Amino acid sequence: MISAGAAGHDSRLTDHESPITNYGDIMRTDSECIFCKIVTGDVPCFKLYEDDQTIAFMDINPANEGHTLVIPKEHWEDVYAISPELLAATVQTVQKIARVVNQTLNPDGINLVQANGKGAAQSVQHFHMHILPRRVGDEVKLNWGLHPGDMDAVKDVCERVKRNLPV
Ligand code: AMP
Repeated sequence: MISAGAAGHDSRLTDHESPITNYGDIMRTDSECIFCKIVTGDVPCFKLYEDDQTIAFMDINPANEGHTLVIPKEHWEDVYAISPELLAATVQTVQKIARVVNQTLNPDGINLVQANGKGAAQSVQHFHMHILPRRVGDEVKLNWGLHPGDMDAVKDVCERVKRNLPV
């Protein structure tokens, strides 16, 4: 269920069938979206970082150790829908977190991955960027399958990276 917040009426959001609504200061949220539920705290996550506009948390189906997602708190489906300003805020968080993941895990490289649409294997319809640490020879395919991670290991790497976040 999507809704628009009081600070700005958006005529694109008036469809009465729409699941989009507002949540506190968050202007646009979808009650059926798993990432919006993470933003509202209705679904738990291994949270690394949060600011006014964005959240970074661990992917629960990690393609590699330290696989992290960065999302805007507002619900926008993809790169076409998100505003340039919110995209910029999201990318700033991506850079901040990528630096700390790199410092903490010292991978051989990091891919930033971002999918839009079925053909690109976008499985969650809430804009997100993957921070994917890579090791030489890891053979991770960029259309990786979703294989549930060991939650103790995901939690552990979350804590390790978090300790290196600048205050
Ligand atoms: P994409 O396939 O690019 O849309 O990526 C969506 C990502 O979200 C996948 O890598 C999933 O593993 C991840 N994901 C889905 N649900 C959750 C969740 N509840 N917590 C953390 N990661 C999730």
